[in-house]
Amino acid sequence: MDNKLRVGVLGATGMVGQQYIRLLENHPWFEVTYLAASPNSAGKKYVEAVKGKWSMTTSIPRNLADTIVQDANIVASAIGKCDFVFSALELDKAATAALEEEYAKNGIPVVSNCSAHRFTPDVPMLLPEINHSHLDMIPIQKKNRGFSKGFIVVKPNCSVQSYLTPLYALEQKGYKISKVILSTMQAVSGAGYPGVPSLDIVDNIIPFISGEEEKSEKEPLKIFGSIKDGKIVNVEGMKFSAHCNRVPVIDGHTACVSFEFADNSKKPTKEEILKIWKEFTSVPQQLKLPSAPLQPIIYTEEENRPQPRKDRDADKAMAITVGRLRECNVFDYRFVGLSHNTVRGAAGGGILNAELLKAKGFL
Ligand code: NAP
Repeated sequence: MDNKLRVGVLGATGMVGQQYIRLLENHPWFEVTYLAASPNSAGKKYVEAVKGKWSMTTSIPRNLADTIVQDANIVASAIGKCDFVFSALELDKAATAALEEEYAKNGIPVVSNCSAHRFTPDVPMLLPEINHSHLDMIPIQKKNRGFSKGFIVVKPNCSVQSYLTPLYALEQKGYKISKVILSTMQAVSGAGYPGVPSLDIVDNIIPFISGEEEKSEKEPLKIFGSIKDGKIVNVEGMKFSAHCNRVPVIDGHTACVSFEFADNSKKPTKEEILKIWKEFTSVPQQLKLPSAPLQPIIYTEEENRPQPRKDRDADKAMAITVGRLRECNVFDYRFVGLSHNTVRGAAGGGILNAELLKAKGFL
């Protein structure tokens, strides 16, 4: 197994778990050695556990088809079988939080897609192009909790990167942003499997996704925050207002965004914004992480793009496609951002987090 880190996938049978299985096949640094899901799947071969609900367009990797799925709630089963786990469980929040802590306590680092620990002050909520410096929380977290080898890192909500990365690119050039109003159009795969019933979503839009507006408004404040007195504290002077809608798209979350700069006397021109976005790269690109998109923000000049079907797969489905930058009659500018929710927004984003952790010596 030539020095690859051994990986466990908790929730391996779900929408996000399946993306992990697909994306980790032939990964240069990681090899899946442990699969776990609910007690209902435990004891079955993986191929049987996902029968009728395998949603990937590629086949189940041969080396995993006959692997016996374990019960994710039994942490002891994972000990010695994997060096770290990706967590993609659909459990209630308190149970997920406790279970992820149990894995970390038992020396197994957790790279999570779940929302349970997103607001835990000593847990980094990583979007590697933006807040890679929050990795400095890991030694503090380990000390706080008496973890020896284990720790917990989470990734944000699946729609956040489609609007936050373009805004961050402007922030890091000194153009502070104060107000953001956004409307998301979120794909059905974001609801997991089997997701939204077809009779609810075909020929329809549902203007409510439970908990999603709060996540879209609050998570950016922690991601843009900084470490103070051993905690991640939210950025100040920034407000988000979100409208989140479920739309009949399979994959790809779109966000229509209007934003205002904090200093009205120091606003970039449209040409400057486009140049900043085009030239933007960050630590994942500098470290040449295997899943990092070459260009994190791809700007499309076509007036009717980005579109989920045409743009969600840009650069391994890891790039954010942005278009329609124009002045706003109420705020300063507006644009449309799009990213693949189960890849960049879920499993691909989790893998990029793990690659950053490995490159920085945490795994
Ligand atoms: P999903 O398709 O419903 O899959 C849920 C997984 O959790 C399955 O493997 C399931 O196993 C397992 N599970 C359910 N009940 C369990 C239990 N009692 N004990 C242990 N395992 C249990 O959900 P998903 O869309 O993949 O989402 C997984 C997580 O990622 C969620 O926390 C979600 O909020 C988050 N997330 C999803 C997306 C997205 O775009 N879909 C994006 C970002 C984050 P069985 O198959 O055996 O039931």
